[in-house]
Amino acid sequence: MTQAAPWQLEILGLRSARGDYCWLDLAAPPEWQSRPGQFVNIRCDDAADATVSGQEIPWTGDGLPDAPHGRHLHGPSPLVRRPISISRLIDDGDGSRRLVLLVRVVGSGSQLLSNRKAGDRLDVIGPLGNGFDLGGPARRAVLVGGGCGIAPLVGLADALAASGRSVTVFYGERSADRVPLPLPESARPTGDGVVALRGTPQLPGADLILATEDGSLGFKGRVTDAMAAWGASCGWDDAELFVCGPDVMMAAVAALARVRGVERCQVSLENYMGCAIGVCLSCAVKIRADNAQGWTYKLVCRDGPVFEAGDVIFENKWEGCKK
Ligand SMILES: Cc1cc2nc3c(=O)[nH]c(=O)nc-3n(C[C@H](O)[C@H](O)[C@H](O)COP(=O)(O)OP(=O)(O)OC[C@H]3O[C@@H](n4cnc5c(N)ncnc54)[C@H](O)[C@@H]3O)c2cc1C
Repeated sequence: MTQAAPWQLEILGLRSARGDYCWLDLAAPPEWQSRPGQFVNIRCDDAADATVSGQEIPWTGDGLPDAPHGRHLHGPSPLVRRPISISRLIDDGDGSRRLVLLVRVVGSGSQLLSNRKAGDRLDVIGPLGNGFDLGGPARRAVLVGGGCGIAPLVGLADALAASGRSVTVFYGERSADRVPLPLPESARPTGDGVVALRGTPQLPGADLILATEDGSLGFKGRVTDAMAAWGASCGWDDAELFVCGPDVMMAAVAALARVRGVERCQVSLENYMGCAIGVCLSCAVKIRADNAQGWTYKLVCRDGPVFEAGDVIFENKWEGCKK
């Protein structure tokens, strides 16, 4: 098991993609080992300017305190690391390996990451979390991603295909201009038709089915509607689900799995977190338990981020999940 202690990893490349995303390649140390679904916690600012430990942070008791070097707990240069999934671990064949990350620029941390350059070093803690369980018996793997939830599914698709399973990846977004995956010319709007793109560059061993809410690419509608249409013709026998995306989407997929009798459905949660090592408790989530109240708190960083969907209490974020 690779030590999670901070690593200074060189950025080998940074490529922007549609939808405010960027792909980031980092040089992995030789001893690095990680499983699909694990993540890293990244210091987004320049680590060389980030020596705050041991310094007192002045605080007037009003709002969040100022940090040394003019930085703030919230603001242009966040003190708290940001968790990012490991999309892929690529062996380049000459003894060197690359960690591939997919980052969506949504705030100050991801903005700082996207502004870094090849040759810079990133202060990274990882690999963290449990990762997906690839040991299930089902021969058909159905992966479902929404937004930046596609990130951990890329390497997962590789691993599942390598283990001999048929892999279908559903990817839902609001519109075509937010899809970060490189796509072939044949990718186009398909209305209420579910069309699989075979062997796309980031998903060479999988069928990719796109769904956009505005219909500008692939199936027109939610990703769960595309799954229902696909399931009506392909069925759900011998299938296992692996899901990552907004809670509301994961709750809907979990409900579909239950209704269609899909026994195993793993969800990777993306709750806010601070330390990512089980100390700050900010990523607590309610998990069903055999106790008087019927649930207990678990930590997404330490016990997850991957859980059995049926164990997660999605907190009424989607009414359908109560049925
Ligand atoms: C285990 C894990 C893996 C992740 N993997 C990836 C990944 O591979 N790629 C990626 O782009 N992002 C990933 N994320 C999400 C990423 O860590 C957050 O988006 C992060 O907060 C971005 O930092 P920021 O400073 O740019 O934005 P912030 O300033 O932190 O947030 C900007 C906006 O996004 C919203 N937001 C931020 N985080 C969350 C969240 N967890 N849930 C709901 N809304 C949120 C905020 O409310 C705010 O509106 C992952 C999160 C977790 C917990």
